[in-house]
Amino acid sequence: MKRRNFLLSASGLLAGVVLYPLRAFASEKKDIVALDDPTATALGYVHDATKTDLKKFPKRAGAEGATQFCNNCMFVQGEEAEIAGEEGKWVGCQLFQKKVVNSKGWCNSWTKKPS
Ligand code: SF4
Repeated sequence: MKRRNFLLSASGLLAGVVLYPLRAFASEKKDIVALDDPTATALGYVHDATKTDLKKFPKRAGAEGATQFCNNCMFVQGEEAEIAGEEGKWVGCQLFQKKVVNSKGWCNSWTKKPS
């Protein structure tokens, strides 16, 4: 392979690797984290943070807890997007690779996004 062709191929491969995670968050219903996913269950993930079981997950209790949502968590990834037929907006999360969570959702791993 000529050097120029090699460089073009390598840059195309690199672009594919960089762009893949963005495509992985493409908004389809099947990409939504299932509430019975073992990780979601263990972390108490809910699509609507106001439905968090506060007895099990007191971290979200009180005025401070009420401000916690996926969209202000440091583990959120990518841009929020709508999904046809689903309420709200959806976004990637580092804990749920290739799946999206509701931007107004919550789980016990919530950590404030640095400002
Ligand atoms: S880690 Fe953060 S963004 Fe991911 S589900 Fe939990 S609260 Fe939401």
